[in-house]
Amino acid sequence: MMLSVQGLHTFYGQIEALKGIDLEVNEGEIVTLIGANGAGKSTLLMTICGNPRAAQGSILFNGQDITQMPTHEIAHLGIAQAPEGRRIFPRMTVLENLQMGAIPTEEAYFEADADRVFNLFPVLRERANQRGGTLSGGEQQMLAIARALMSRPKLLLLDEPALGMAPMIVKQLFAVIKDINEREQMTVFLVEQNAYHALRLAHRGYVMSTGDVVMSGTGAELLANPRIHAAYLEGG
Ligand code: ATP
Repeated sequence: MMLSVQGLHTFYGQIEALKGIDLEVNEGEIVTLIGANGAGKSTLLMTICGNPRAAQGSILFNGQDITQMPTHEIAHLGIAQAPEGRRIFPRMTVLENLQMGAIPTEEAYFEADADRVFNLFPVLRERANQRGGTLSGGEQQMLAIARALMSRPKLLLLDEPALGMAPMIVKQLFAVIKDINEREQMTVFLVEQNAYHALRLAHRGYVMSTGDVVMSGTGAELLANPRIHAAYLEGG
């Protein structure tokens, strides 16, 4: 098992945002975490990355306890997060954005790594010398994912990549996530409110509600579950 979260509690002051989360991600899987606004999905991703810190419980990554580890050490072990939305550098070119994500000590590999992500996102190759801020929303999201891949992570954390994207772009983004998983054998943990697409893509899924995991199963099982339908799929 690559990632194992056990009994995880996280607080913001008095607010208990995570109330004892248990979940697992195996090597090679796409696992999705769905749930309504405010369920605690982003808090879980951030706690995995070490900020905020868990108040209780444990996070193991490839068997190593990372619960109290500083964020940069967690990144160094091979966990990369593509943040929600557009936190790319708008004044830097696409290529410079990718440089910011690359491992500085491995400059020699930069070209090969950039080529790898350009093969996944051909539109970024076309825009290599364009400033990030001039890209469309979908392209900026692609750049955020591409930048995360430059550090050659073992586990890619994605926080709502489909948020605010047009349906066409959502389809494209999910197709690339599938490619990243299959072609690059990348393990992916995908937080999404777009439950339908996420569950179709994922091998397994977890459903969160107000700080708890309330359901889990294969993507297909959850898609077929009437309670999931009523809560997360109808009208969405
Ligand atoms: P969203 O889809 O809106 O990002 P989410 O499922 O990711 O929702 P979180 O953002 O993790 O949910 O929020 C979980 C709970 O913690 C919410 O009740 C939220 O109001 C609260 N919360 C989040 N960040 C903070 C913060 N910095 N300070 C205080 N409370 C916070």
